[in-house]
Amino acid sequence: MELTAKLKKNRDLSDEELIALLNTSEFDASLREAADGVRRERYGDAVFVRGLIEFTNYCKNDCYYCGIRAGNRAAERYRLTAEQILDCCAAGYDLGFRTFVLQGGEDPYFTDERICAIVSAIRETYPDCAITLSIGERSRASYEAFFRAGANRYLLRHETADDAHYALLHPPGMSPENRKRCLFDLKEIGYQVGAGFMVGSPYQTTENIVADLRFLQRLQPDMIGVGPYLVHKQTPFCDMANGPLDLTLRILSVLRLMFPYVLLPATTALGTLHPLGRELGLKAGANVVMPNLSPADVRKKYELYENKICTGDEAAECRRCLEQRVKAAGYRVVTDRGDVKR
Ligand code: SAH
Repeated sequence: MELTAKLKKNRDLSDEELIALLNTSEFDASLREAADGVRRERYGDAVFVRGLIEFTNYCKNDCYYCGIRAGNRAAERYRLTAEQILDCCAAGYDLGFRTFVLQGGEDPYFTDERICAIVSAIRETYPDCAITLSIGERSRASYEAFFRAGANRYLLRHETADDAHYALLHPPGMSPENRKRCLFDLKEIGYQVGAGFMVGSPYQTTENIVADLRFLQRLQPDMIGVGPYLVHKQTPFCDMANGPLDLTLRILSVLRLMFPYVLLPATTALGTLHPLGRELGLKAGANVVMPNLSPADVRKKYELYENKICTGDEAAECRRCLEQRVKAAGYRVVTDRGDVKR
């Protein structure tokens, strides 16, 4: 049987079959069509929007790929006040956002107490909204405290499921076991959980990607964040190439077929790699977009990679632009919480 049809039917393939599917462009059209079919069956033409608030670019970690790594002395650091974060939510709520994603570097200033205070304030003002945190690795007790304060979702990409590859992307102090521990803890606590990885990160092999898919099968996350690796000059990977567009799209389609229910963003990194990257992502099976709600003056500073799009626009402009792009791609922005449909 053709690989795409088999993947659609069984929601799985052998390692060898996955490698064949990922390594050739031969199946691209059938993959895309099958993924779009499965996505429409489950979610129709709905595209969920998440308001992304990048509230700090201070980070204690030194991930070799990331522009806001601690070792980048050239990065201009900022953190938003609780009041500024709430202002972002207010502006976002008026624009129809019902999910707020608080993302940042691992910033020790934001203690459990400070995070809980911010989450509680958002929860009180917007009982009808989902609150997503994306602030890295913490203890189980911290995750429990955030959950009690009102957070519902947590995004923590596993980055790579292969320990040897993990060690090539991160300094010795960082542990793949702890990152995975975090994900399983978050799930047990009751969060809707998002994992994920970069496509074309330095030294990544097709076998590594298969390991990522196997890890995701074990975790069964609600969301999967996958975008191309993009270079940043002030990192040890300054001479590495950007991740490939076609492979990123292929992986989105494979994910849709393996996890029909999953929330799958067409990422800003994909839109940065190609002018129509996010539209292509939607057509390949993605069903979420995450426009920026951060104040315009800090957007350029949250520079994980170079040439990030949408750093000049106000939130309202972003929202309008995205609405048009989604429509042009053949889908429709919806403004509810956009919970997973298992
Ligand atoms: N500190 C938080 C949030 C990290 S930023 C955490 O640890 O989860 C969100 C994601 O951006 C990362 O998980 C990583 O996969 C991605 N990212 C970082 N640098 C990148 C780069 N150079 N190109 C593409 N994606 C990158």
